[in-house]
Amino acid sequence: MENKVIYVAGLGLIGGSLALGIKRDHPDYKILGYNRSDKSRNVALERGIVDEATADFKEFAPLSDVIILAVPIKQTIEFIKTLSEMDLKENIIITDAGSTKREIVEAGEKYLAGKSVRFVGSHPMAGSHKSGAIAADVNLFENAYYIFTPSSLTTAGTIDELKKILSGLHARYIEIDAAEHDRVTSQISHFPHVLAASLMEQAGDYATEHEMANHFAAGAFRDMTRIAESEPGMWTSILLTNKEAVADRIDDFKDRLDEVKKLILQGDGDAIWNYFNHAKETRKEMQIHKRGGVESAFDLFIDVPDEEDVILKILELLRGTSLVNIHVNEENREDINGILQISFKNVKDLEHARTVISEKTDYKVHI
Ligand code: NAD
Repeated sequence: MENKVIYVAGLGLIGGSLALGIKRDHPDYKILGYNRSDKSRNVALERGIVDEATADFKEFAPLSDVIILAVPIKQTIEFIKTLSEMDLKENIIITDAGSTKREIVEAGEKYLAGKSVRFVGSHPMAGSHKSGAIAADVNLFENAYYIFTPSSLTTAGTIDELKKILSGLHARYIEIDAAEHDRVTSQISHFPHVLAASLMEQAGDYATEHEMANHFAAGAFRDMTRIAESEPGMWTSILLTNKEAVADRIDDFKDRLDEVKKLILQGDGDAIWNYFNHAKETRKEMQIHKRGGVESAFDLFIDVPDEEDVILKILELLRGTSLVNIHVNEENREDINGILQISFKNVKDLEHARTVISEKTDYKVHI
């Protein structure tokens, strides 16, 4: 493949990680970057994430073979409008990284139609609570789903070409209609974030009158509310660009709560048992990670490359430390802070493991 010029607009966690992943398999490509603030722009240059960087979005667009918009959703749409008014290379590929797809694909179709542009929506489904170029990680998308949502401007071969360009991400590429993407993610991602935030609000209010709620909250509550710590700005944009689908999931859930409330008040033990059992069986059938029934209050998340013996290497470092569970989060990784999850019996072992792994390896470690 000839050397290409790839322009990544937005050198945050996602844009920076995409740039690193592209560079891994294509060191000869020229990677140009845009970032509004000096901070991530300078970090991206210092870390070699990009070859050149600008604070003027328009500057590099005419030089590029591929433009990846990795900025918030509203800004992605603004940049699509800006690009529609510019002279770009013939047959350029424009894509994005936004967490919702329908509005972005509609904007691409609306503003870029009639130009020599190939536009396809993208959602690399991995992330973390961190942001900025400082958090960019070449392994972020390893084994994660990378979703393409084609538009009427996605000509045959566009997605295959992008897959080759993105090969260094080591992601799992999949195509799906943009509206269907937004429906599916409303159920498995957007609505759970609303629920976690509401549960946190509810518990916080309750704890003002029942102080011990602050102290008794443990593993189950922690697991249910972890994602309430997500970045508010990103979640606001996600909900505002997927209103109907999320509202539909909220209504559906209200009905389910009413139903279980009725069973509880009726004292219908069999029905309640069935309710829990059905949920348990459904969860077992789903391709989500199973924790093996252990409480996981002392978890360490380690971003590791998908390489031979990597787990053995880590376990060797932890010789003598008692582990409760070990799990590889290799499926859909959006919001999961790392790929290898190790649970310990107590905080002392957890801290020991964090120190040893941080000192002896380059892997990023999160608690
Ligand atoms: P980030 O905060 O790390 O980076 C965002 C980037 O956008 C930064 O470079 C910032 O300077 C820039 N930016 C923000 N507002 C801007 C504006 N008004 N004009 C110009 N530039 C602006 O965030 P991120 O996690 O890298 O998210 C980028 C995109 O990726 C978003 O669309 C998000 O929905 C999507 N995404 C995020 C995740 C995740 O979990 N973090 C996962 C998948 C997709």
